[in-house]
Amino acid sequence: MKTFKKSLAIVLAALMALSVFAMAASAAVPEGYFPIHDSDEGLEEGEFYATGMLLEYLQRMRTQLGEDYILDAYYNPELDQAIYQITYKGYVGEPAVFPDMYVAYIKTYVKDIDEDLIAVKTDEDTVEHGDWFIDYAAYSANIEFAKSMLNRYTYQIGAISKKLVLTAKEDGSVTKYFVGDSMYDTYMNIIRVKHEFGEWTITDEGHSATCTFEDCGYVEEGAHVEKAIDYTVATCTVGAVYTYQCIYCGKERIDQRPAPGHWWDDGAVTTPATCTEDGVMTFTCKATGCGETKTEPIPAAHAWETEGAVTTPPTCTEAGVRTFGCANCDETKTEPVAALGHDWGEWKVTKEATETEKGEKTRTCQREGCDATETEEIPEVVVKVNFFQKIINFFKDLFAKIKAFFQNIGK
Ligand SMILES: [Zn+2]
Ligand SMILES: [Zn+2]
Ligand SMILES: [Zn+2]
Ligand SMILES: [Zn+2]
Ligand SMILES: [Zn+2]
Repeated sequence: MKTFKKSLAIVLAALMALSVFAMAASAAVPEGYFPIHDSDEGLEEGEFYATGMLLEYLQRMRTQLGEDYILDAYYNPELDQAIYQITYKGYVGEPAVFPDMYVAYIKTYVKDIDEDLIAVKTDEDTVEHGDWFIDYAAYSANIEFAKSMLNRYTYQIGAISKKLVLTAKEDGSVTKYFVGDSMYDTYMNIIRVKHEFGEWTITDEGHSATCTFEDCGYVEEGAHVEKAIDYTVATCTVGAVYTYQCIYCGKERIDQRPAPGHWWDDGAVTTPATCTEDGVMTFTCKATGCGETKTEPIPAAHAWETEGAVTTPPTCTEAGVRTFGCANCDETKTEPVAALGHDWGEWKVTKEATETEKGEKTRTCQREGCDATETEEIPEVVVKVNFFQKIINFFKDLFAKIKAFFQNIGK
């Protein structure tokens, strides 16, 4: 028992990095999740299976873990989330969530697809009317290149065989996709049913034609499906010209692209500017085989000192002068230095104000060489008299006047 516990502890420690383990009798499918199978073999309709990166990831993890561990993957369609769980001798780990990118590689098994499998001929010599075939010429003018490319993709994406799953939409148009149900619009145009079309009705937007093979009557109708059949390489001054052709009706369209223009370098000084004469900067086009150049003037300019020197110091009231020399010639330029303004001292009262007379105060500039003074009035001292005192004073005054009046009458 002791040894068992010890070995278990080691195992648990080793697995900590992957997931936290809990003791349980056996692995149970977490609620809301469904097993992700390793292939679609023997599956029932609606079951899930891993493809591509997800399948590779699961297989790599199992190899790393070794035989004693069971790695199960589950998918929750409601959450669109995949998890995995590791079981070691009946001990079940906490589930861990797969990064979202892996969810795209979970496929739902649809039985009907198997029945709809249609062989697509990859050997153009054997293509007969009604066969699905890969039109190498529609992919590239270089047939050998097209074969190697398209067969490679068909194998890689197809996983099972060079077969394609073909299903019809409600409007009758055919949706074609490689086994493993990855959609590849680019290749849809190349996978076609062989018909023998008669006269095409062609407009700028599209085409239509009816198959003339026996009593087929199939009508190909739709927008042009173009591929580039020719092009001219652009130069700096003349844009590329692409010639496109519809792979069905053969309608050509010329696409004249705008000229890209020169690709100028950072330029080089071919004639340096002097104090008085403009210089020349020459730019060269970097495009292969062009060699075009253009020039731009470098404006003449003195190399002025950055600091300069104060040649006339400013005073309190007059601006000074700062003079800059040129590093390359005897020329100088000047800039004014702002006047300093007076440096006033404290106000000094030269005459005190009274109730009846204004006072005076004076201050003097403290800067050496300046004797500017400034004088200001000090207003009269205001004696504050309150409201009641004013009334009393009024009556006192009135009585005094009445008294004087009667005294005058008495005389
Ligand atoms: Zn036909
Ligand atoms: Zn067309
Ligand atoms: Zn150029
Ligand atoms: Zn100069
Ligand atoms: Zn002053």
